[in-house]
Amino acid sequence: DVVVETPTPPPAAPEIHVKVSSREREIFPDSTVTKGELADYYAQVAPIMLPWVANRPISLVRCPQGRGKRCFFQKHDAGSFGEWVHQVPVTEKDGSSEDYLYVTDADGLVACVQMGTIEFHGWGSTVDHLEQPDRMVFDLDPDEGLDFAVTRDAAAHLRDLLGEMGLTTFPLLSGGKGVHVVVPLTPRADWPAVRDFSERFARALEQADPARFVANMSKARRKGRIFVDYLRNGRGSTAIMPYAARARAGAPVAVPVSWTELRDMTSAHPFCVRDGAELLKRANGRGLQGWGVADQVLPDL
Ligand code: ATP
Ligand code: MN
Ligand code: MN
Repeated sequence: DVVVETPTPPPAAPEIHVKVSSREREIFPDSTVTKGELADYYAQVAPIMLPWVANRPISLVRCPQGRGKRCFFQKHDAGSFGEWVHQVPVTEKDGSSEDYLYVTDADGLVACVQMGTIEFHGWGSTVDHLEQPDRMVFDLDPDEGLDFAVTRDAAAHLRDLLGEMGLTTFPLLSGGKGVHVVVPLTPRADWPAVRDFSERFARALEQADPARFVANMSKARRKGRIFVDYLRNGRGSTAIMPYAARARAGAPVAVPVSWTELRDMTSAHPFCVRDGAELLKRANGRGLQGWGVADQVLPDL
């Protein structure tokens, strides 16, 4: 059968109201990517990025003078982002309340870039269900020197095991070294339940295959293995958001892929901020339709 695909035109870049200053500043000196280019990249991918990042408490990696200069991880509002970046009060462990940041639109993303942001990290829950995660993530962190194929195959192994439990999963290339296995959830169970599930699952992986997996964060114990970082699943923990740029050499971005595509991938950073047009096109292709979407709850472990 000949399947005729009707090409969906890529979404038009939304109109941006935020003024970006110092557009010519090199934020990625190694690849000459400027602040203006980075802002344009986020405006361009906003239509495919916002479904994941909008209305979610975010933490930012800010490098106001560019990558390689002073960078910092910002969780709380400092009151300087302007009208496009919103605040949500979150009760901390000690009972105090802190304002976390969230955005709802392309201007919000660009306003963060204007403030020197390179990376967007997000909570596993959204502001309307702060205490009930809508995703669990296994962040596979390979030991230095491990071939990407090892991480790739490990991710597929997690897919199989979680699939046997009835869970649909989606791979995200981190833009760095590893792969995140994303498990969408109907926001119903609370944080301790999700964290507990992820920890037990990670420990079971190590127990079944200790030559390949380690559930302990210690670098010393990682030797030739993959750390199954389940700690992204605690309340207040974050993980890199789909299509976020990374403050690493080459201006790479985190990218959702299909399980089929992942089989042929040779690195966790095949795309960079100059690939915006291609990312938009890909996102409309059949392989990525429905990425990250599944209405499901965790089974009892
Ligand atoms: P890689 O594939 O290279 O591991 P990654 O995004 O998974 O890329 P990790 O180092 O495994 O990077 O994960 C770090 C996570 O920890 C980030 O996703 C971020 O959300 C979170 N994080 C918490 N605190 C910080 C901090 N101070 N600086 C950077 N990241 C932090
Ligand atoms: Mn990682
Ligand atoms: Mn990690």
